[in-house]
Amino acid sequence: MSKVLVTGGSGFLGKRLSISKPNWIYISSKNCDLTDQKAVKELLNDLKPSAILHLAARVGGIKDNAENQADFYYLNTMMNVNILSEAHNANINRVLSSLSTCAFPNKVSDYPFTEEDFFSGPPAKTNFSYGMTKRMLHVASMSYREQYKRNYSTFCPSNIYGPGDHFNQVNSHFVAALVHKVASSVDNSTIELWGTGKPLRQQLYIDDLCKIIPILLEKHNTNTPLIVAPTENLSIRKMAEELIKYSKKNINLSFNNKLDGQFRKDGYNQQLLDLIGEFEFTSFENGIKKTYNWYLENK
Ligand code: NAP
Repeated sequence: MSKVLVTGGSGFLGKRLSISKPNWIYISSKNCDLTDQKAVKELLNDLKPSAILHLAARVGGIKDNAENQADFYYLNTMMNVNILSEAHNANINRVLSSLSTCAFPNKVSDYPFTEEDFFSGPPAKTNFSYGMTKRMLHVASMSYREQYKRNYSTFCPSNIYGPGDHFNQVNSHFVAALVHKVASSVDNSTIELWGTGKPLRQQLYIDDLCKIIPILLEKHNTNTPLIVAPTENLSIRKMAEELIKYSKKNINLSFNNKLDGQFRKDGYNQQLLDLIGEFEFTSFENGIKKTYNWYLENK
């Protein structure tokens, strides 16, 4: 794959990937609005990439997702339809697209869930639109594989965190919001967090994903929505306590008991390891230290 085009190149994941893969081509909405089919057609005809890594999406935290379901539906659907159909029209044989473990069912009978559970129930209400657009991106990839023998495949990262995350925005994800709150808190203060603190989450350190993506681009050629997640699955409270301990600040935690989201959404990473071989995921304890230090140096 000599010429790889990365959509979502200005995002959290795209920017970080450009450090380890500087020769790939990274685009943002300023280069091409992917909801505009004509613009996508022109872009692909001009660039003629040999492969596309499709990361662009309307992404957000739980509150943003819950309150803007129509925007998540429309923007993600349009981008995904345009990228896959125009890649096919331009005879680009390889597209690897990022889904999310949010696309998995809200509840399955056994955890961790596996790729076989992907369609076995509706996604959580709080990210229903986002989750369903990711499912349809998978359906589209499978369809081009089956009808036209294209090598279009997908992977599902769990929550991603690390250097370069969106730290101080209203729409931040949990870890980024936590880092910002802890860094800006003084001794003997209280941090309020959403929910109860009980839900469990797999947090994927961004540099782990940046190492895995190039391998998937080479090797992931099946219709499996491959789960990319560490084995570690920690409660929100435990993660907050871990960072507070590392910050050495005397901070109390309080939970507002609103909008908890799914209690568990951990996925099993065995199929990933079967494909890429042994992989040592960064522990949350180490990843959060690196992330916090990065934030203090770069905020
Ligand atoms: P992000 O930081 O929000 O970046 C989104 C990217 O999509 C930006 O480059 C943005 O470009 C681009 N984009 C949005 N609308 C566009 C449009 N109309 N036309 C062209 N480009 C557009 O997202 P991220 O966190 O890097 O996520 C990358 C991928 O990973 C997504 O597919 C997401 O679903 C998936 N994922 C993320 C997480 C996570 O925790 N972050 C977890 C699981 C899966 P502009 O900068 O120009 O707006």
